[in-house]
Amino acid sequence: MKRFCRFVLPWVLVAVVLPAQAAEVVVYSARKEHLIKPLFDAYTEKTGVRIRYITDKAGPLLARLKAEGRRSPADLLLTVDAGNLWHAAEEGVLQPVGSAVLKRNIPAHLRDPLDRWFGLSVRARTIVYNTRKVSPGELSTYEALADPKWKGRLCLRTSKKVYNQSLVAMLIARLGEARAEEIVRGWVANLAVPPFSSDTKALQAVAAGQCDLTIVNTYYFGRLLKKHPDLPLAIFWPNQGEGEGGVHVNVSGAGVTAHSRHRDAAVSLLEWLSGPEAQGLFARLNLEYPANPAVKPDPVVAAWGTFRADPTNLAKAGELQAKAVMLMDRAGWR
Ligand code: FE
Repeated sequence: MKRFCRFVLPWVLVAVVLPAQAAEVVVYSARKEHLIKPLFDAYTEKTGVRIRYITDKAGPLLARLKAEGRRSPADLLLTVDAGNLWHAAEEGVLQPVGSAVLKRNIPAHLRDPLDRWFGLSVRARTIVYNTRKVSPGELSTYEALADPKWKGRLCLRTSKKVYNQSLVAMLIARLGEARAEEIVRGWVANLAVPPFSSDTKALQAVAAGQCDLTIVNTYYFGRLLKKHPDLPLAIFWPNQGEGEGGVHVNVSGAGVTAHSRHRDAAVSLLEWLSGPEAQGLFARLNLEYPANPAVKPDPVVAAWGTFRADPTNLAKAGELQAKAVMLMDRAGWR
C-alpha cells in the first residue's frame, strides 16, 4: 500500500488531472479583446483551461471559418447580433449543443430553437431623446416615430448596420411587411440629416440639437453618458402598452463550431459564460443586460429603469433579414 501511494498514486493523479489542465479552447471573437479577456482570464484561473482567441469583425470571422472548413482550429464563435449568429448557423459553421445548463440559464427567445447559438448578453435598441426638446409624454412606440409630427427631427444610423436590419426584421415579424414598410418610410421622411455611420454619432447629433431623437443600442448611451454625464439625453422605453410588442432587444452570443476539436471544453466554457459568475461581468464590461434572468444588471444600467422586452424568438431577426434589407432599400433608408 505504501509503495502504491509513493509510486503509483502520483501517476494516477497526473493521468486524471492532466487532460483537464492540458485542455484548451480556441475562440473566434467579434467582441473586442477588452470585453472578453477579463472573462477568459477568470475562467483559466478557475479551471486551468487555456483560452486562445483572435478578434475581428463578424463578417471576416465567418468567412474565415467557412474557408478553413474542417481544418479550422476554432472551437467557439463569439459575435454580436442574432442576425449574425443566425447567419453563421445557416452557413453550417456551428453545431447544435444539447445542454440542460444552457437551456436553464438562457431564456428560449434569446437562443436558437435548434441549439446552435445562445445569447449571452442583451442590449435594447430603444429611443433616446433630447430632454430640452422632447418630453417623454410625447413618445409612445417605434411606429409613432413615423408620424409627420417628427418631420425633420429624427436621426438614424445607416441601414447597412445589422442592428437596424434586425430591428426592421422584428418589425416585420410583429406587424407584417406592408405595415413595417409604411413605418420605415415614415421614419425616412422624418430624417433631419442623412443616416450616421454609428450609434454614437447619432447620439451626439441629438445632444447637439441637430435632431431631437434617435434609435440606438443602450450601451452606446451608457458609454457616452459615462464620458459626458451632462449631455441632455434620456432613454425612453417604447411599446410598453398591452399588445404593443415591447422594446426590441438583441444579443451578443456564441456557438460551438461545426469542426471543434475541443468540443467538451468549448461546451463547458459556454455553459460557464451563461452562469451567474460570468454573466454579471459579461454584461457589465459593455454596460449590457445579463441574458441570464437570475443575474442583476450593473447599477448604471439598472438606473435606466425596467421595461417589457419583445418576447419573439430572435431567430426571426435572421430569417427576415433579407426581407428587411430589401424593405429599407425600397423605403430609401441609406
Ligand atoms: Fe455595437
